[in-house]
Order: sequence, then structure tokens, then C-alpha cells
Amino acid sequence: MTTPPIDLEAEKQEILRRYRGLLRAAKLSKSRADRRAIRKAFDISLEAHKDMRRKSGEPYIYHPISVARVVAEEMGLDTTSIVCALLHDTVEDTYLTLDDVEQLFGKRERDIVDGLTKMSGVFDPGTSAQAENFRKMLLTLSDDARVILIKLADRLDNMRTLDHMRPDKQQKIASETLFMYAPLAHRLGLYSMKTELEDLSLKYKEPEDYELIETKLRKGKAVRTRFINAFTLPIRRSLDEQGVAYEILGRPKSIYSIWTKMQKQRVSFEEVYDVFAIRIILESDAEHEKADAWRTYSIVTDYYQPNPDRLRDWISLPKANGYESLHTTVMSPSGKWVEVQIRSRRMNEIAEKGLAAHWRYKQGGEDEGKAASQNLDNWLVQVREMLDSGETDAVDFIDEFKLNLNSEEIYVFTPNGDLFNLPKGATTLDFAFRVHTQIGSRCIGAKVNHKLVPLSHQLSSGDQVEIITSRKQKPKENWLNYVVTASARSKIRHALRDEERAVANDGKDKLRKWMRRKEIAFNDANIDSLMRRLKDDSPHALFLRIANGDLDLDRLGGFSVEKNKLVWIKTPAVPPSATKVPVAQPPSKNDVLLIGEGMQKIDYSLASCCNPIPGDEVFGFVMVSGGIKVHRQNCPNATNLLSKYAYRAMKAQWTSRTAKQFEVTLNFTGIDDVGLVNAVTKVISDDMHVNMRAISFDSADGTFDGLVRVLVTDTEHLKKLQAKLLDVPGVWTVERVDEG
Ligand code: MN
Repeated sequence: MTTPPIDLEAEKQEILRRYRGLLRAAKLSKSRADRRAIRKAFDISLEAHKDMRRKSGEPYIYHPISVARVVAEEMGLDTTSIVCALLHDTVEDTYLTLDDVEQLFGKRERDIVDGLTKMSGVFDPGTSAQAENFRKMLLTLSDDARVILIKLADRLDNMRTLDHMRPDKQQKIASETLFMYAPLAHRLGLYSMKTELEDLSLKYKEPEDYELIETKLRKGKAVRTRFINAFTLPIRRSLDEQGVAYEILGRPKSIYSIWTKMQKQRVSFEEVYDVFAIRIILESDAEHEKADAWRTYSIVTDYYQPNPDRLRDWISLPKANGYESLHTTVMSPSGKWVEVQIRSRRMNEIAEKGLAAHWRYKQGGEDEGKAASQNLDNWLVQVREMLDSGETDAVDFIDEFKLNLNSEEIYVFTPNGDLFNLPKGATTLDFAFRVHTQIGSRCIGAKVNHKLVPLSHQLSSGDQVEIITSRKQKPKENWLNYVVTASARSKIRHALRDEERAVANDGKDKLRKWMRRKEIAFNDANIDSLMRRLKDDSPHALFLRIANGDLDLDRLGGFSVEKNKLVWIKTPAVPPSATKVPVAQPPSKNDVLLIGEGMQKIDYSLASCCNPIPGDEVFGFVMVSGGIKVHRQNCPNATNLLSKYAYRAMKAQWTSRTAKQFEVTLNFTGIDDVGLVNAVTKVISDDMHVNMRAISFDSADGTFDGLVRVLVTDTEHLKKLQAKLLDVPGVWTVERVDEG
């Protein structure tokens, strides 16, 4: 492909010409410091973009200059805005970085350019134009309203130069403009910008209709001028007599507004156009403008009959976006309705340029530039408030966009400028999983706004997030605590399940080996029995615990094996030694010892070696020192005592229930689990109302071994307590300890 030779010298001259045009337009930036800053931004932008050309073949720098000019001339913004407009595409498209911008200009400039760079990705081809996102982002993204205003200027210049784009892009950009940027301009009180954006959009969206309306307007110009001259003649005469300086504009409606009306009301161009509009701009000072406006209204209605329904006084009560004007509709002698707008020069400026003009006028005087700049800040704050508020008026932002503002959402960006919305409180890990499951699974951290942060870092709106991954990373159980989105949670769970399946298989193997050793058949019945005994929800959970070492099979007790079948012992296991004890040797000559209430006359005591309690099978043993000790028949010492001193033993039995409480020590084993001690003590004291004397737990390798001393009335009471305690999840065995 051959490119036509470019006259570089001529281009250079043109660039400078345009730059000087910008300086002339920058009326607020008159100081030497302002000029220096603009010059610096221009030089840097020129250098950065020097090898770039627009689709039209023109030097790229034309675009930032034009945007800066719109910002200065049509919006009346300050030096900072002009500087940022000149730089608005540098960080995205050139070697210049945000740090460079900060170093060269300052933090504020950096933030604005940063905001503009982030916004630029939103509508890039490939990322779908999500109107909803755009709107919400506007509300949350930027703390500095200049970002939005410069973005509007950028869009206006792109629309003005849309001819050179591919047709499909033209359609896309025009649609976005009509749908979002024009209403936004309207909402911010930038009426002429809104009108131009609409007309330009229509030009690409409905080229034939646009052409038709435009041609008719052009052809009708002479007729219109004649009509307006005739209509305004008496008004002008009266105003001249009053000595009021003024300007009268016969304004055709915008092409877009005519088109819309034609579409909506299904009427012809002529019928729409039949409604004329004129604007009377009064050169009054702030003090007299309101009185002058009403005097002018009086003059107009002296000549023409007003429609009382169509009187709008936005001077006494300005619109929310700052619009001030007096509107009336009157009947012309030929029977045509004519809309008459009456306003001061100041009000007209506001209508054209938005509230920036308002603040400028408010101050005025010698210090105009400086004061205006200060007032601009006030205005920017107000724009921000406007964007934030849900107030309603005729041009309600919220209505226009059908905004369903959800403050529970945040907007974050990838390094490429792709936009993601997440619920408030979302973390880097949520974001990583939103981008891609693989990114999430391998996430080890992130850089948020270039700073290193952990997985659990909470994101804020406007953050730029770069996820750091590692091939070695795997989802972890505790990640579930770091995420708030349901999708991330389910993805983590899914990954953990995959991981678990492998682990569970290990546990299953261990269990198989253990069962083989214990001669327990490895079948569903036995696994099921074990699972229920250990209060697991599934064999899978059981296998996992075994694999993780949470459950040590070798320490499992409280069961026996009968024909390869697991049998659980519900009641306390009887020590093997005790079972061999011969049950009470033939009693001696003495009568049966009755123990219990009313037996106090006999000097007896309960042996501390086995701590008998009512209900236990017991025998009395006559002590050398006198008195009788009562032992349990399965007392560890019983064998010895009975075989050597059988003659000293005597039959004994409890007479009745006694109100007395007896101390029993219980030994626990089970799985060491948070809350287990609590569960055990709760059963003892709350459920059973048993007095607890002491408790001590020892835990190792995920199991515990504990002792608890309680007071019970008899063996039945004790059995109930034991059964209750065995029902506590995690408790394997509860055995009575014989030794005190
Ligand atoms: Mn641009």
C-alpha cells in the first residue's frame, strides 16, 4: 500500500495553529503558570503521539487538542481539565505512565488521567457495551467529575470525526452516544453538547431521515427568517424603546428533536416544524435580569396571545441542572404557535455550557479566572452530587436511564480496562474466580492499584486488579471464608471436592487395612455402622477423617468383633479382670449387711478403691481397725480380698434409694473437636442436672482422653448419663473409673 506523501512542514504549522486556537479558547487559563502547564501538556502529548495517526490519516495530536478545546471553550473548564484532556489518551496508547503524569503534573492530574484510562476500556470493541455498567460506573468510579466531563468532550470529538470509522463501528459508537452520552450531557446541563451529540448520532443511525430533515431545514431557512423577522418586529421595537440591549435568535429545532417528534406522533416534517421557536437573549446584569425577563414577557404578550398552559418560569425555580429561562408559547397572526424563550446572557451561557458558566458569572470581576476556577470546584462537587442523588425532575437522570442504582455493587477493572461488577465486600479472590476459574484456583495474591495485597483483600470501586497466579496453587478449605460471591464459593467447593476425592481414597485404603487386621469384613454394613457410630454424614466424610489423621483407628474402642461384624458396646465396658471375679463367695455366718438409710448405726464406709454407689453389687469387708468397708463385687481388689480373707466378707445389699449423692469418675475417649468439652459439660449439667466436680481433658493426635467427676444417686442414674454422653457427636466411649 502506498501512502500519499505527507507535507510534514505544513502539518507542523497546522498543529501549531490548532494549539494557538486552544490557547485563545482557554479564557480561564490566563496566568503564566496556566499557560506553562498547558504548553507542557501539549509538548508531552505531541511527543508521545508523534508516530500515531488517526483513521483519517491526520496526526493523532489533532484529537487531544480538539478535546482540550471543547473542554475549554464549550464547557468552560479549568487548566487542570485542559491539561488532562491533552493527556487523556497518552497513558493508554503511548509509553507514558501514570507515574510520569504525576511526576510531571501532580496527583490530581494523575487521578483524572487514570480515571479516563480506566473508562476507555469500557467501550472498546470486544467488551460489550453494557449500558447498565456504564451508568453505575459513572456514579461510583470517579471522585473527580472532570473525568466524566472530559470523557464527554472526548466523545463529542469522536462523533465529529466519525466519518473515518468503519460503518459497523459508526453504528456502535452512535448508538452508545445516543443512549448514554447525550442524556448524560443533558443531565449535566450541557444543552448544546447534548443537541450536537444527538444530531450526530442520528446522522449515522438514520442517515436518510437525517438528510431529509437537514435539507428541508436548509431550504426553509429563507421562509423561516422572513417569518421570524415579521414576528419579532414589534417586539424589537418595544425593546428598543425600553433601552434594553438584546439579541433575538430564530432557532430551528434540532434535527434529532424534529425526528423524534415525527416518529412519536407519526406526523410529517411540516407538522412538526410548524412549531417555531425564538429566543430573546437580554444583555442584563444579574441584578435586573429577572425584572427585564418579565418585562419582555409582558411586551411579547402585548402583541400575541399566550397559551397559559405553556408558561414555564425556570428563573424563579431553576431546573435541578441549573437551567434558567422563561418560556411561553404564543399564537402568531397566521395562527402558528411560536415558542418564545426569554433569558439573560448569563442564563443562556448556563443553558449552553452547563453550570460551569453559572459559577463563572457568579464571581466575575478582575479576579475572574481565579475565582472561576475556585467556583468550578464547587460546580464539580455539585455535578458529583447530581450524579449521586436520586432527585427527580423533568430531565431526571434516573428516569432517563431507568437507573436501578444498587449501591451494594462495586466496579473494578482488569489491567486491560475490562470492567467487572461485584457485590460490595468482594475480595481479590472473588474477582479472580469471576475472571476465570483457573485464575481463581491458582490465585496466590493480587496487585490492586499496583500494590500487593492478599487473597482476602476487600476491593473498592474503581480498583484496578491484577491477579497473581502460581501453577502450584490449589484451592484451600479456608478460601471459603475469603469469598462473598456464590459463584466463587461454588467453584472453590467444586475444586475442593475433586481434591477431596483423592484424599478420601487414601482414607478408604487405610480403613480397609485396619479392618483386615481386626478381622472385620470390609463391607457396606460395617462401614455404615462405623460411620453412624462416629456421627459422620457419609462414608466419604469418614474416609476423609481417617486420611487426614483426624481419626486414629488404632485408638478406636468400645466395640467387639463377632463373625467379622462390628458390634458396638453401648454400656460401659466391663474391665476384663472384673469379669473373671467370682461373684461373691458364699456369705459368712453373718447376716446380710443392709446399706442405706436407717443403717447409720452400723459403722460402715464405702471403699475408695471402687467407689460403690447404690445399685452396684457390693459386699462388706470387715476391717481390722473395726467397721465395715463396702466394695463393689467387681472391685479390682475384690479377688485378692475374697480369696485371702473370705471369712471377713459379708453379704451386703442396698436397702433403698437414697437421697445421698455419690461421686463417680468417668473416663471419656473420642475425637478432639472444638466444642466437644462444651457439649459434654452441657449434657452433664443441663440435660441430666448432674453435679460436676471436676473435668480434665487430654488431647493428642486429634483424639482426646478425659476424666470427669460427677455426683450421681445410683447406677441407673449413671447409666442414663453414660447413654446421654455417648450420644454426643465425637464421643466414643464413656467408662466408669474404678479407682478413686
Ligand atoms: Mn480520545
